Amino acid sequence: MDAQSAALAFDVGGTSIKAEVLGPDLDVWGRLSCPTPRGTGVADAIVETAHELLAGLPAGRRERVRSVGVAVPGLVDPDRGISIYSANLGLQDAPLAQSVSQRLELPVQLGHDVTAAAEAERQIGAAQDLDDPVVVIIGTGIAAVSYVRGERVVGVSGQAGELGHVVVRPGGPLCGCGNRGCLEAVASASAVVRAYAEITGRTVTGAEEVVSLLGHDDAADRVWQEATTALADGLLSAAALLAPGGIVLGGGLAEAGNALLGPVAARMRAASRAVATPPLAKAALGGRAGVVGAALLAFEALDPPGGRAAAKQSAHAREDG
Ligand SMILES: [Zn+2]
Repeated sequence: MDAQSAALAFDVGGTSIKAEVLGPDLDVWGRLSCPTPRGTGVADAIVETAHELLAGLPAGRRERVRSVGVAVPGLVDPDRGISIYSANLGLQDAPLAQSVSQRLELPVQLGHDVTAAAEAERQIGAAQDLDDPVVVIIGTGIAAVSYVRGERVVGVSGQAGELGHVVVRPGGPLCGCGNRGCLEAVASASAVVRAYAEITGRTVTGAEEVVSLLGHDDAADRVWQEATTALADGLLSAAALLAPGGIVLGGGLAEAGNALLGPVAARMRAASRAVATPPLAKAALGGRAGVVGAALLAFEALDPPGGRAAAKQSAHAREDG
């Protein structure tokens, strides 16, 4: 990577687009967010926000922006830069990278939002010192990214890590996928909100409101206990399969901090028999993980063949030999 280059980074979420300009040391040069439109409006919003961010940069910095990273939810083909399917964004087979690239006249790398967030945690966040970590992002859904021998596990279909659809409560709450008792139907932020409303008849603004009621609201305590117990059971499955050096919890629900990590770790310790309980950590980048991950994608694309990646490999080879 050119040590002078900067990147535009976008984390396209279901409700808002977070955008940043990041310098070569991932220092923030500018930041904006806007509501997420649907369909073709997504590319328009990215381009408009990019122009606004670039216009806000001082002379000398604007021309150093040489690449763009975009993280989106749903099914993504990073090699072709296509959003294959995202119900939230109203996108299907959308050549997002190409349409943004043509209009900004910059190379655009498209990536999956959870993968981008996990990579950010692994490279500069809470997972950077863990061997073969599992990074679990808990928001509207639940997804995990795992590493084996330092390599991200992709799977034959490219869809490895769908921890949210591992059934932890057979016959339990209906999941968006059509099955019952999937982890994300019990332990995601939206599942917590839904369960609380079902018990009390009261609507809360988000899972953080349920967390704020812990200790003085029986329904909140009950919902939280069910969610954290189910999450622990799901993480134990991941631990049994992968024996990770640690598990990092990110996404909106992880902002609960020790209110989440405490009961989850306790349940894991109590329930594990044959499986060693890996250490748990809260994600370090919080809500910025996706946008930082998008910037890393952009910078990696600027890395010439034989650059940083090859240098890393030869360092490994030296260690091994
Ligand atoms: Zn499911």
